[in-house]
Amino acid sequence: MTTSADRPYRRYLCIVCGFIYDESQGDPDGGLPPGTRYEDIPDDWECPDCGVRKQDFVLLTTESPSGAATMQPATPSSALPNEAEQIVIVGGGMAAWTLVESIRQRDNSVPIVVVSRCSSEIYYKPQLSAAAATGQSPDDLVIASGEHQANRLNVTLVAHTRVLGIDRANRRLITPRGGLPYRYLVLAVGAHQPKPILSGNASHQVVQVNDLTDYRLLRKQLDAHPSARVVILGAGLIGCEFADDLSGAGHAVSLIDMAAHPLARLLPTGLSQRLAEQFQHRGITLYTETTLETVEQYDGGSLRVTLANGQCLYADAVISALGLTPNVALALQAGLKANKGVVADTQLRTSDRHIFALGDCVEHQAQLLPFIKPLKAQASVLGALLCGENTHYSGIPSTIIIKTPCYPIAVWPPQEQGEWVEHVANKEGATFLHYSRDSAGQQRLTGFALAGPYTREVRHFEAQLSQVASALRL
Ligand SMILES: Cc1cc2nc3c(=O)[nH]c(=O)nc-3n(C[C@H](O)[C@H](O)[C@H](O)COP(=O)(O)OP(=O)(O)OC[C@H]3O[C@@H](n4cnc5c(N)ncnc54)[C@H](O)[C@@H]3O)c2cc1C
Repeated sequence: MTTSADRPYRRYLCIVCGFIYDESQGDPDGGLPPGTRYEDIPDDWECPDCGVRKQDFVLLTTESPSGAATMQPATPSSALPNEAEQIVIVGGGMAAWTLVESIRQRDNSVPIVVVSRCSSEIYYKPQLSAAAATGQSPDDLVIASGEHQANRLNVTLVAHTRVLGIDRANRRLITPRGGLPYRYLVLAVGAHQPKPILSGNASHQVVQVNDLTDYRLLRKQLDAHPSARVVILGAGLIGCEFADDLSGAGHAVSLIDMAAHPLARLLPTGLSQRLAEQFQHRGITLYTETTLETVEQYDGGSLRVTLANGQCLYADAVISALGLTPNVALALQAGLKANKGVVADTQLRTSDRHIFALGDCVEHQAQLLPFIKPLKAQASVLGALLCGENTHYSGIPSTIIIKTPCYPIAVWPPQEQGEWVEHVANKEGATFLHYSRDSAGQQRLTGFALAGPYTREVRHFEAQLSQVASALRL
């Protein structure tokens, strides 16, 4: 009989923060000696980085999924496969690969083609800000190459190929390498960061970090200065995570935003004020109610940055983090319905019944959910649907974890009008709850924002909100 002690050690990824639990190392600070197997981890153990439990970890494997040992290697990318029955996925990011895993858990043989304009390496995008701070190289972040993943999952990968259009009448994708037929097409084309409108002879040196290629550029700039002066435009989730991580690593960070406080659109005002205070203690300089206008080359390779309020800063690197805008061009060009994102119904079907969408590019019930948790839930539902099961995506929002180590925050943004109430606020953290009134005038919980040690109560509030949301959707 084979026991878990006989198998090689495995690694598990926290889907919330990207922490990797390596069985061979354990988590000695959290009470798990080296060699502790995932199945032996007690249920109350918490992720050292973000506090979630072991249920939020997924196996990081380079082994074949069960029954896949006989799979053939992927077709070399020079020959475009021509099977009418194939599922074609556009995109090589986490949404695409998570969907492939979900299909393969149910069906080892349906032909799948992944077409992506990038190399489709497997890495965990939320780690980009922490990696910038710890000095990890882009290669350190890569868990597996696209080719390896394609072989493992019996998928044809067509990398470095931008899809140019969709011939819906003939169910064919148009690529520079020829046409590609599909039975079902899935758009997993992600989102991009909008470019700020800037003047100055060095405005092209501003980096936007949305993938490994961008990260390589940023690394180059940071590596040239052990303690770099970094200007970050945009105090949303990505900008705040970069600011906290980089300043924690000894860089001098200036954070600029049009709003009065960081994360102002996501958090109750009281909490975003507290986050601003924590940032200031951390040594981050905030420039609020202003924006960046000009980036010019200055003396000896550094940059001079001018703000709309006239202030001048000097920098070694400038990062723009203005949020994520879904990539809808391909869908729009093909005549699919798209607003902020590609519109999809509760089966993640677009306005064409043969075309689906998931991940950062999708708009579901008028909402964008550009986060890992919804993407995983969508991939699980869509994998089942494409394998013939009848199921639905609830679209119930989930908690957003803001990985700002100086003041960690977990927020469930309310979807209804109502009022934020401060319940606890002390030196360490805070609890804000959001209440709305229903048509009978009854007050109910519709959101929460927890900071510091109170983020540990996330499961308690999540359970309440999921129950209410499910009941309302019945
Ligand atoms: C710095 C940063 C930090 C983040 N932190 C968090 C966090 O802490 N928690 C969290 O939940 N989320 C976080 N996110 C968001 C999260 O990373 C995304 O929700 C997720 O990675 C989106 O995956 P995706 O596959 O939908 O899109 P992407 O990863 O953008 O993949 C899109 C794919 O489509 C391909 N593509 C696009 N257009 C075409 C075309 N025309 N032809 C062919 N291929 C095409 C691209 O090459 C790419 O492979 C963060 C994002 C960033 C940038």
